[in-house]
Amino acid sequence: MLIFRTVEEMQQYSEEQRCFGKKIGFVPTMGFLHDGHLSLVEKANQVADITIVSIFVNPTQFAPDEDLGNYPRDFERDETLLKEKNVDAIFYPTADEIYPKGYQTYVNVEEISKQYEGASRPTHFRGVTTIVSILFNAVKPHFAVFGQKDAQQASVIRKMVENLKYGIEIIVEPIKREEDGLAMSSRNVYLSKEQREESIILNRTLLAVEKTVKEGEINLDTIYKLVENKVGEIKTGRLDYFSIVEQDSFNEPEHLEENKKYFALIAVFFDSTRLLDNLIIIT
Ligand code: AMP
Repeated sequence: MLIFRTVEEMQQYSEEQRCFGKKIGFVPTMGFLHDGHLSLVEKANQVADITIVSIFVNPTQFAPDEDLGNYPRDFERDETLLKEKNVDAIFYPTADEIYPKGYQTYVNVEEISKQYEGASRPTHFRGVTTIVSILFNAVKPHFAVFGQKDAQQASVIRKMVENLKYGIEIIVEPIKREEDGLAMSSRNVYLSKEQREESIILNRTLLAVEKTVKEGEINLDTIYKLVENKVGEIKTGRLDYFSIVEQDSFNEPEHLEENKKYFALIAVFFDSTRLLDNLIIIT
């Protein structure tokens, strides 16, 4: 398995592979890998000849008061896990390599970046779309695999790729969960024992919403009340947002229509750790 630390080396390798007619699959990550990340790697292995994983804790997607400095890192462990999955190359650049002195170019997807994650973290998606476009230019993939875990992020990236005409196929893979239903996340290590026990409320709430909708409930106010009550049951967390949104636009409908797919989105704070989850709801 190769490890590239500069954009130039990464581009050269990808150009060579493209010349040999190889299809490149790419999985961008911030490292501290878990089975969720590894399921994306498996998907890339299935669809492409060459799998490249990037590990980069991207400073531009963190606000000054967020956890950039504390974000968990363990490159050696990540390297071992990726070797076991037969990954061909890791792109592991430094922040100075990506954002050298004088850097001043940003990519912004205007509308679907505004709400939910965009409202809670106003500069976040601008950082995400900027780094993903830089990584796409460094790795030159045919396919890029993202997780449904970050549903809004996946939609923002799809929109960017469509609008900027990248010609890269975006694949979105389902959420990997712990046995009790908590969505896997590198940030779960921040949780105390009590918070970890109560963190299953995210998945439980989404499942309760799914059940009520299946039973015919289409009144959004009633559904929001149910969510507030459920999250209100826990002591160590507080609701940041819950919403049911249209799949493509991420707009909230006035009411739920029959035979339609929506995303139910939830974010809950446990002290300064904010956990996300979502579920596809079919009415
Ligand atoms: P991150 O390292 O948190 O930036 O995540 C890198 C990629 O892994 C993103 O596309 C995430 O959506 C995806 N991912 C994170 N957690 C999970 C999970 N539990 N299941 C599936 N994919 C995930």
